[in-house]
Amino acid sequence: MEVMYQSTRSTGKKVTASQAILKGLADDGGLFVPDAIPQLDVSLDEIAKMNYQETAYQVMKQFFTDFTQEELEKCIERAYDAKFDTKEIAPLVEKDGVYYLELFHGATIAFKDMALSILPHLLTTSAKKNHITNQIVILTATSGDTGKAALAGFADVEGTSIIVFYPKNGVSAIQERQMVTQKGANTKVVGITGNFDDAQSGVKAMFNNKELAKAMNAKGYQFSSANSINIGRLVPQVVYYVYSYTRLLAQGVVKEGEQVNFVVPTGNFGNILAAFYAKNMGVPVGKLICASNDNKVLYDFFETGVYDKNREFILTTSPSMDILISSNLERLIYKIAGEDAKATADMMAALAKDGKYSITDAMKEQMKDFIGGWASEEKTASEIKRVYDKTGYVMDTHTAVASAVYHDYKEKTGDQTKTVIASTASPYKFATSVMTAIDNKYEGMDDFALIDELSKTSGTTIPKAVEEIRTAPVLHDTVCETADMQKTVEEILGL
Ligand SMILES: *Cc1c(COP(=O)(O)O)cnc(C)c1O
Repeated sequence: MEVMYQSTRSTGKKVTASQAILKGLADDGGLFVPDAIPQLDVSLDEIAKMNYQETAYQVMKQFFTDFTQEELEKCIERAYDAKFDTKEIAPLVEKDGVYYLELFHGATIAFKDMALSILPHLLTTSAKKNHITNQIVILTATSGDTGKAALAGFADVEGTSIIVFYPKNGVSAIQERQMVTQKGANTKVVGITGNFDDAQSGVKAMFNNKELAKAMNAKGYQFSSANSINIGRLVPQVVYYVYSYTRLLAQGVVKEGEQVNFVVPTGNFGNILAAFYAKNMGVPVGKLICASNDNKVLYDFFETGVYDKNREFILTTSPSMDILISSNLERLIYKIAGEDAKATADMMAALAKDGKYSITDAMKEQMKDFIGGWASEEKTASEIKRVYDKTGYVMDTHTAVASAVYHDYKEKTGDQTKTVIASTASPYKFATSVMTAIDNKYEGMDDFALIDELSKTSGTTIPKAVEEIRTAPVLHDTVCETADMQKTVEEILGL
C-alpha cells in the first residue's frame, strides 16, 4: 500500500515520500507526516535474525513506498558501511541493569550520523525519481553537531554540495576543528561574526528569497535542507528502536510481546518521536521517557499540557539539548489532535505569536505513554560519576541527562520494565565536561590532553574522528559578517 505524506497544518495535496524528502518543509510551514504510520510486515522474531542494514530495509520500505527495493538497498548500503567503527552499527551495552543503545559509532561520533549518513543518498535518489537535474545545494546553520554530521554525510556525494554557517565564537574548540578540517570538494564551511540565531535567520532568509532561487536555477542549482524536520531524517531513526528491541529478543532478555521502555535525551523531539513511530509500527514499547536538561520546556509540557517557551535560555553542558522550540513535537501534536490540521495550525500560530499554546484534556489523555523528566547540571555530572564509579562505563553529558532521569523515574515508580537508554554522543565529544564530572582535578586542562586522560580512564581507544582532527590541516578559513551571508553564497556558487 502506498504511503503518502501530508502537512500537519493543512489538508491540501498529498505528496510521495521522495517529494516530501526533497521539499523538507511543506509549503504552509507544516511538517510532512505519513497518512498512516505503517506496520512492519515481518515478525519481530524474524527481524531478530537480521543485521542492521536488513532491519533498516524492513522499516524504510514501509515508509518510503515510492522507492524500489534496489534504490533503498543501495542507499542503506552506502550509509551504514565502514564509516561506522562497529559492524553492529548501533551496539547495545548493558551496565548496571539498563541497556545503553550507543548511537555514536558513526563518522562524527554523535547520533546525528544515524540519519545524516543516509539522508544524502535518499535525497539524490529522490531528485532522480522526480527528474530534477539541478545540483542540490544544502544550506545549513549549525550550533555545532549538525553541521559536522551533515558535512560528513554530503562530502563527495555526487549531485550535491553543502555550505555550513556557524557562529565563529559560539562553538567548542573541538566542534570548530571538526568542521574546518572537513574534506570533500563539494563542502564549504563559513564562520560568521554573529551568533547561532543570526546564522539561522540568514539561512532562512536565503531559503525564502525567490530572486535568489531564480538566479540559482539559471545556473543549475537549487537549495535543500538537511534539517531534523525532514522526514528523510526521522524514518532512519525508527530503525534503531526496532533493531534494539529485536536484539533484546534475540538475546532472550525479553520474551515475545514483552514491553521495553525507552529513555531519550531530547532537544528537537526527533529522536523520541522516532521511538513513538516504532511503537506505532508494532514494537512492544511501554513508556517513552523524555529527558530534558535545565531547558525543561518539554517536562513542563508533559506535566501541565501547556507548551510555554517564554523563559530564560540556559546554556548547559549538554548543548545539543539547549532548545526552547522542539520542532518535531508538532508531529505528535497533530497525531494526538486526531490528525486535525486546523487545530495543529492554530496551536503553532499561537506558539509563533505568544510563544505558548495549550492542549485539551482529550489530547493529554492520548500522550499517556510519554513521561517527562529533567536533570539539573549537578545531577547530570553526578550521574556520570555514579555510573563510572560503579561500572567503569563513561558516558557523555547528554546520555547522563537521560540516565539520571531514568533512575529518578525508577525510584519513584518502582517500574521494573526492561529499559533502553538512547546514548546520543561519545564521551570524547564532550571530554572536558565528562572528565571534570569524574574528578575536578581535570578542571582547566586542555581539550586534547583530556582526551588522552579519558582514554586511560575508560579503557577505550580514541575514536578515529577525534584522532584525525588533532593533526588534520585546516581547509576552511572563510569568515563573514552576518549581513554578508548571501553574498558569500553567491560567490561560492559563482552567481
Ligand atoms: C541532537 C542531539 C540530541 C537531541 O536530539 P533531538 O532529536 O533533537 O531530540 C541529543 N543528544 C545529542 C548528542 C544530540 O546531538
